[in-house]
Amino acid sequence: MTPHKISILVRADVGRGAIELLVTGCLTAPTARILSAQIARARDLQPYEPILVDLTGVQHLEPAALEELRAAEAALTADSAVPLRFALPEVATPCPLSSVG
Ligand SMILES: [Zn+2]
Repeated sequence: MTPHKISILVRADVGRGAIELLVTGCLTAPTARILSAQIARARDLQPYEPILVDLTGVQHLEPAALEELRAAEAALTADSAVPLRFALPEVATPCPLSSVG
């Protein structure tokens, strides 16, 4: 059992000019895979809409998660010129859920 949880809010309103994925919670390798699947799904649904993945609200960020996301980004942009951008938090913070004491 992992205490790490991710929450992904997808904003795909017509006329916004971009699909936004607002991410909060913990971004670890397993939750990054969940996020990658959501990004891929958004791209499948609206292939010509730019995607912005907003990670600035993430509370816990693991370097391994960024590797997962880079791999997903590479796969999704390999055959598409439609932008896929990530807004990253300035600092990686320790997990508020796994701290003891
Ligand atoms: Zn965590």
